[in-house]
Amino acid sequence: MQIAERTVASFNYTLTNDAGTVIDSSSGTDPLTYLHGVGNIVPGLEKAMEGRSAGDKFDVKVSPEDGYGTPNEMLIQVVPREAFQGVDDIEVGMQFQAQTPQGAISVAVAKIEDGMVTVDGNHPLAGQNLNFAIEVVDVRAASEEEVRHGHVHGAGGHNH
Ligand code: ZN
Repeated sequence: MQIAERTVASFNYTLTNDAGTVIDSSSGTDPLTYLHGVGNIVPGLEKAMEGRSAGDKFDVKVSPEDGYGTPNEMLIQVVPREAFQGVDDIEVGMQFQAQTPQGAISVAVAKIEDGMVTVDGNHPLAGQNLNFAIEVVDVRAASEEEVRHGHVHGAGGHNH
């Protein structure tokens, strides 16, 4: 069976940046399982999965436009240290929920200097090429319920 709309695919992956550093990997855990065609994985990878079968191994480079997007300056803000009431130790890399007119977003502390804290609401991988090494493990037909819900049920998916 080939990966197409209304199929559920499982795959092992290693994700590296352009410097060759491993950012994420399924090594040591279960393969990632997703419903194909509904945007459950980044667009560039989903496109590359199309038509693959169990046992296929391939590498794909996904540009930021087809990955986690390009960094948006609007999502970078400098706020006074005093804005973090109730937080004793602020460190670079800490994550917070920030309220915006578009709803709550996750922001990370990027810099602390002179009592001012720079927070960045961009995805940590925004602006980066994503280099995936993929091994397709399994492809099966999605159930009607999975198609309706837009996600996978059972092993590697939702239990509800
Ligand atoms: Zn569901």
